[in-house]
Amino acid sequence: MNKSEIITLGCRLNKFESEIINGHVEAADLKNIYIVNTCAVTCEAVRQARQEIRSLRRKRPDGKIIVTGCAAQIDPNSFSVMPEVDLVLGNEEKLNAENYILDTKQDQVFVSDIMKSRGISGHPINRFRSRTRALIQVQQGCDHRCTFCIIPFGRGNSRSIPPDFLIDQIRNLTKNGHKEFVLTGVDISSYGHDFVEKSTLGKMVCCLLDQVPTLERLRLSSLDPAVIDEALISALAEYPRLMPHLHLSVQSGNDIILKRMKRRHNRRNVADLCDRIRRVRPDIVFGADLIAGFPTETEEMFQDTLKLVDEAGLTYLHVFPYSPRDGTPAVSMPQVPIGLRKERSKRLREKGDLAKTIYFDQLLGSKAIVLIEEKGRGYTEHYAPVQISQKLESGYIHRLRITGHNNQILSAELLP
Ligand code: SF4
Repeated sequence: MNKSEIITLGCRLNKFESEIINGHVEAADLKNIYIVNTCAVTCEAVRQARQEIRSLRRKRPDGKIIVTGCAAQIDPNSFSVMPEVDLVLGNEEKLNAENYILDTKQDQVFVSDIMKSRGISGHPINRFRSRTRALIQVQQGCDHRCTFCIIPFGRGNSRSIPPDFLIDQIRNLTKNGHKEFVLTGVDISSYGHDFVEKSTLGKMVCCLLDQVPTLERLRLSSLDPAVIDEALISALAEYPRLMPHLHLSVQSGNDIILKRMKRRHNRRNVADLCDRIRRVRPDIVFGADLIAGFPTETEEMFQDTLKLVDEAGLTYLHVFPYSPRDGTPAVSMPQVPIGLRKERSKRLREKGDLAKTIYFDQLLGSKAIVLIEEKGRGYTEHYAPVQISQKLESGYIHRLRITGHNNQILSAELLP
């Protein structure tokens, strides 16, 4: 009988959940089960999921194929009608061990209305299979309704995991050798807003760093620039173990476009926020998600996005050409021609590459503290990728000297 397999598409949260699913599959010693944990962020992501399913069936003609994740949650029937598919599970149902041992007949669908989900309990994980950096889910879902985004309909409204569970989880994982943790979710900036006694991401971060002194490096996944709380800014000033790198979900540098996206910040907010954080943590490095070619975006508006990269001092850019997503309001706005979307994305990526090269040039000859992950690769505290030629065991933190770079990755040598 073939070993079971999980194919994970999409975001860090999906990767985290695939670790939980893997735990269920291993605990029940299930064989010949193939799980596709899908993403729905773009139409392309959904097309990719179908492709994975078809090639899986060709490879595993007698295997049981289970489809889950956001694409399955949002449109379960579009997968249950596929002859290749045996079972469709929703994003809540995928975390329930029983659903993998049930003897289900062909094209069964277990998908509940995720918009009705309230509260969330954590899922204990003892160790990550192939990761030195441990992903920690702190939150699920999103209360916002950005006009280009389908995610809330796959993940439900925002729900936070209680801090006590997170403290135990991280304590446990540090005992098992993990040195770096990435707090993840859908909208972690809204952490704690759903508790009876309201809390914030910043308060939770301080609590984790105080309660788990063995936690060596803490990172945060994408943040909403409109919801960075005071406690988080103080934590960046006070805790060296909170890594000096923030990734912001900026999306555009033009205020009219930000309004049409239904974002909660404007360009001034982003530039001021970065300045403010730089004053308390001068070595901080910022990354940002940016969309090029959002409906109605003119060349002049796009120029505002290019300018914001300099004004806010953004170094790592994740650039996405706008992708129309059925079921979102932006799909019915006047579209920018696809060629222009791609051309603007190319210019924005070039802008990002230049910003990164300038930053890497500044690092030459400097010291860096790097967690080696695999094959001599790792990341600095500022999230710059590093390759070292010396054979170093993965999972350990080393002091290195930056000796060069190729615009994409730094090279380094071990310091005595
Ligand atoms: S904040 Fe906006 S972009 Fe992010 S998940 Fe929520 S709706 Fe989507």
